[in-house]
Amino acid sequence: MRSPLVVGNWKMHGDLAGNLQLLQQVIAGVPAAGAVDMVVCAPFPYLEQVRNLLAATPVGWGAQTLSEHAQGAYTGEVSAGMLREFGCRYVIVGHSERRALFSESDEQVAAKFLAACNAGLVPILCVGETLAQRESGETVRVVEKQLQVVLDRAGVERFSSAVVAYEPVWAIGTGRTATPEQAQEVHVAIRSCLARLDQQVASGLQILYGGSVKAQNAGEIFAQADIDGGLIGGASLVADDFLAICQAANR
Ligand code: PEP
Repeated sequence: MRSPLVVGNWKMHGDLAGNLQLLQQVIAGVPAAGAVDMVVCAPFPYLEQVRNLLAATPVGWGAQTLSEHAQGAYTGEVSAGMLREFGCRYVIVGHSERRALFSESDEQVAAKFLAACNAGLVPILCVGETLAQRESGETVRVVEKQLQVVLDRAGVERFSSAVVAYEPVWAIGTGRTATPEQAQEVHVAIRSCLARLDQQVASGLQILYGGSVKAQNAGEIFAQADIDGGLIGGASLVADDFLAICQAANR
């Protein structure tokens, strides 16, 4: 049985005072959230604050991106080893904003995924189609290709300590969500893609849905058999909303 997981992606939001308040409220709500794994992914400058505040709590934490390189002349980049040494457990890899705004290719995403695995981090690999791709019936093909490039580079066994997040690009930050059935269909495709290589890894893989998940729609989305929780952007910035989503994932 896969345990439910809810990951908050703060994106480029927050400040020290606001983070403190948000995390204190989240920590206070942990007992009510039940048996759900909770993770917060924060901007680099706030990782120390997040690490200190969450140290004695069950809430995990991590970064939002990393370099594919181990070290070298890559000004501004942060390696997997640095994140691990700092204490991170999780890192988001291949978020659609990184792919679209920072031109991260499937191959670069695969290299980042492997770098994270090699350093002992748990990569949260994001995949998902654009609206145009969905409307032209290419959703499953696009998602399988994004996944296949990572599988080719890292191997299926790496997915036994990884998380995949299906995030339709058209649903991120737009208020538009995939229907539970649309999301379930893609989650099944992702799991099947892995099952062709390793049934056990596929059935143990936590596959999250992300894209305008709110307290109001989380329950019906998480009720789907292959949806194991969520990757939450906007709603993770409001403690009550994030906690309500975590409660909805507790099944
Ligand atoms: C995200 O940041 O990955 C995301 C899904 O954002 P939102 O929940 O705001 O759509």
